[in-house]
Amino acid sequence: MKIKIVKDILEANDLIAKENKEYFIKTNTTVFNLMSAPGAGKTSLLKVALKELKDEYRVGVIEGDIATSIDAQEIERIGVPVVQINTGGACHLDANMIRNALSGFGKKRFDIIIIENVGNLVCPAEFKVGEDYKIMIHSVTEGEDKPLKYPLMFKESSLLIISKIDLIPYLDVDVEKIKRDAKKLNPKIDIVETSAKTGEGIEKFIKWIKSHLRKR
Ligand code: MG
Ligand code: ZN
Repeated sequence: MKIKIVKDILEANDLIAKENKEYFIKTNTTVFNLMSAPGAGKTSLLKVALKELKDEYRVGVIEGDIATSIDAQEIERIGVPVVQINTGGACHLDANMIRNALSGFGKKRFDIIIIENVGNLVCPAEFKVGEDYKIMIHSVTEGEDKPLKYPLMFKESSLLIISKIDLIPYLDVDVEKIKRDAKKLNPKIDIVETSAKTGEGIEKFIKWIKSHLRKR
């Protein structure tokens, strides 16, 4: 019985996700859904990337958090249009929340929308929101067991970002194992290592984004 309810919720969500996707195709917007555990550095990476992208493209951001608009305020300061979603407890964004957030942009149209999902390694991977690509951020401070413990995140993502690599010298983390296990789960996943602090790898991330934009 419980399984059936979950299935119905996901099917209803997928229907709205499909409508969102149609809207994104129509408006020629490419949408990236950023997922990670809390504190992996989604907002920090986003801020650095936005500085590189915002002069060349029309970029919008949708910020998902259980509470507060701290992250949205940081994005706003960069001069990028942002809509904050507060889920009020829900630990993921769903397609309907994204549909509502889009109306928050009014008449603005974008080449790129980046969605920062709620920090959580489980259900964000289950809920399609109409995005073109899911991107997972895995910080080196999380150890190397995450691919094996949370496989769906890695299976669903097109890009894995290993973040905070400036901290590697202070940690006993086996980054090669993270990459190996991620590739085992998803042989097509691309991997980029970054540090929002030193700027290392950011160019590669930007290049990846640019090479995945919808053709005009
Ligand atoms: Mg954040
Ligand atoms: Zn959830």
